[in-house]
Amino acid sequence: MEIAVNTKGSKYHVNEKGYYGSFGGAYIPEMLYPNVEELRQNYMQILGDPGFQQEFAQLLKDYVGRPSPLYLAKRLSEKYKANIYLKREDLNHTGAHKVNNTIGQILLAQRLGKKRIIAETGAGQHGVATATVCALMGLECIVYMGSVDIERQAPNVARMQMLGATVIPATSGSRTLKDATNEAIRDWINNPVDTHYIIGSVVGPHPYPDMVARFQSVISEEIKQQLQEKTGSPYPDYVLACVGGGSNAAGAFFHFLDDEQVQLVPVEAAGKGVNSGFSAATSQLGKPGVIHASKTLLMQTEDGQIVEPHSISAGLDYPGVGPLHAHLYETGRARFLNATDDEALEAAFELTRLEGIIPALESSHALARLKDLNLKPSDVVVVCLSGRGDKDMGTYIKHMQK
Ligand SMILES: *Cc1c(COP(=O)(O)O)cnc(C)c1O
Repeated sequence: MEIAVNTKGSKYHVNEKGYYGSFGGAYIPEMLYPNVEELRQNYMQILGDPGFQQEFAQLLKDYVGRPSPLYLAKRLSEKYKANIYLKREDLNHTGAHKVNNTIGQILLAQRLGKKRIIAETGAGQHGVATATVCALMGLECIVYMGSVDIERQAPNVARMQMLGATVIPATSGSRTLKDATNEAIRDWINNPVDTHYIIGSVVGPHPYPDMVARFQSVISEEIKQQLQEKTGSPYPDYVLACVGGGSNAAGAFFHFLDDEQVQLVPVEAAGKGVNSGFSAATSQLGKPGVIHASKTLLMQTEDGQIVEPHSISAGLDYPGVGPLHAHLYETGRARFLNATDDEALEAAFELTRLEGIIPALESSHALARLKDLNLKPSDVVVVCLSGRGDKDMGTYIKHMQK
């Protein structure tokens, strides 16, 4: 395993200025400039260092349990009449892909001499992944979380606390993710020297989107090797992944971005329907704007106010999308699809009954679009199964079918 570092000359990877086409950059308050600049100047050198790569690879292997299997789902394949492989990120320690990134960032924080880690979380998944690696490394961990989310996500709050993290409620505004983000940024401004801010997806100011994508790129690196062994070619015909901020999709697409014969299919959450007013299908509804210090597509009103997103899955309930994905949308490199709450639920029950795998609701959005691809029997399809469904049992129980 090696972290991809050389991406020069690509049309789709980040350029030297921190942009993907017209998207990306670092639209930060001046007070945050030293923190972000320190990262920007150091991250590629640290990621490229053989000692760093070795430690990252070792932890992914022995602690996370990588490589995650690439599983040929036979009964699902029969149903959709193609060769469907599941990339099993659900089998990672802590149950999703997020830990690939938090391991990478905690090692980076150590190299930068940071003693204190902060993060923001909505549903708590990223908070748990961050608290996990802080316990592993013995670093102080502070997680900002909207007070409304703290009430809604009690089990994850308890996990973070058991792992030794301090969970601080954000009590302003709508008391959800965006308010927690504001609190985390405020903390970082006040603690520029000893603190690293771990962002959980391919969002935020440059270099975060690129850095997180490189940590998650292990997903497509493994897919290529595993497909080569199983099919004799490293290239699938399709790669499907759900998109909240876009990190599991960025990781699953990374090593295929410049291989245009591979069709990339990001699937967004359509909530109750793209045009229902309760949706998170950012590529369909968004316009260019700045969110979390990055220029990207986001759902906004005429006068630039952020529109509250909706999705049954907390991990996809985000009004923007990372700048890489905005660029993939604008250039037409990826074919953006979406799935409603009901379609995702149906796909979750289908996978469970056909394969004995209970998927996360997020991942189920990607599974829901298999039926629309007009697949041929020879097609090789990889679906990124970003996480397991344990955390969603409450929702599944409410919708249980006979
Ligand atoms: C957080 C999460 C997502 C959404 O995040 P991305 O950055 O878009 O990958 C998807 N699936 C699972 C299981 C998650 O926990």
